[in-house]
Amino acid sequence: MENAQIKRQAEAHRDELISIRRDIHRHPELAFNETRTAGIIADRMEKLGLEVQTGIAQTGVVATLRGSKPGKTVLYRADIDALPILEAVDAEYKSRTDGIMHACGHDAHVAIGLTVAEILAGQKNNFAGNVKFLFQPAEEIVGGARPMIEQGVMKGVDVTFGLHMGNDEPVGSIALHAGPAMANVDSIKLTVRGKGGHGSQPEKSIDSVMAACEIVNTLQTIVSREIAPKDTAVLSFGTIQGGFASNVIAPEVVLEGTVRSFLPEVREKMIRRIEEISAGLGKALRCEVKFEVVYSCPAVVNSDKWTDFIRQSAGQILGEDKVINADPIMGSDDMSLFLKEVPGCYFFVGSGKLDGTSFLHHHPGFDIEEESLVVGTEVMTKAVLDYLAQHQN
Ligand SMILES: [Zn+2]
Ligand SMILES: [Zn+2]
Repeated sequence: MENAQIKRQAEAHRDELISIRRDIHRHPELAFNETRTAGIIADRMEKLGLEVQTGIAQTGVVATLRGSKPGKTVLYRADIDALPILEAVDAEYKSRTDGIMHACGHDAHVAIGLTVAEILAGQKNNFAGNVKFLFQPAEEIVGGARPMIEQGVMKGVDVTFGLHMGNDEPVGSIALHAGPAMANVDSIKLTVRGKGGHGSQPEKSIDSVMAACEIVNTLQTIVSREIAPKDTAVLSFGTIQGGFASNVIAPEVVLEGTVRSFLPEVREKMIRRIEEISAGLGKALRCEVKFEVVYSCPAVVNSDKWTDFIRQSAGQILGEDKVINADPIMGSDDMSLFLKEVPGCYFFVGSGKLDGTSFLHHHPGFDIEEESLVVGTEVMTKAVLDYLAQHQN
């Protein structure tokens, strides 16, 4: 398809894109509970004549579109889950389920995936090769990608593409970064155990609160004193819990935090030094410290080759000035696991207001500029067709 035709097709689907997105938005579902969403995806894909597999990693769906001749296989991955957030957007399409909300734009990812499939299904006599549409559950808890991969979804895939809404960027643009584009994340937990007692008799107790304070403070020296300034890392403790009453020395404090970085060696060093320093300080202050990594997600790494490829495809359809070379961000996404299996590119589709006043992802006021649905559809359709045209067997 010529660029103008891709644009016309995407624009012709504007109303349908909006209606799918709003329907999914009204009915958000949490990680691994996306049964309604998965049902809609599977139904539509079957009607389009794709080969559909359901129930992968519980609520994941994979639909394969085969062109007129055999050839390479391009994967388009979309995540489908919502968040446990009470929506504050006062719109007709507001969540019908209090406390659950599409606050990250995954409703848009579903709408774009279904629409790209519809456009390409109408073109299947005009291309060789296959397009695999992968709808992943449970991205927000970093739980869906791994079991899908374990069930073999990446077999036969030659390149991995995906897009994410980005309210940081203005609608009409896309943003991408070659190399590590999103962070390594480790969610950590430290349990500091002392010995409880009366607040008036510290000599008969072991104060876990004081040890925990020392640990929180000193761990910040890893980033400031042990990581090279040119590298990046962050450690934030989000919760600190312990104690019973103002006059009781707390026997135990639990700290929970997040560790983020871009390079594997920085990640490894952060984790190792957090464990060593907290154990050492605990020992000095007579506490026992238990360290756990609760979950990990590696960095999203875009290959140079495929980032260039998306840059070119998107530039041809949107105009080069609409393709933004973005800085990496400290957010995470388990799209990284698919990209580790088969390289490719994960990019952002600008969905923010032009004046930059949109609420950011995971905010109760989060909403997208819906024209981004058309932009995402255009760019993904173009990228898939370009890939298949340039990589015939
Ligand atoms: Zn999110
Ligand atoms: Zn997201």
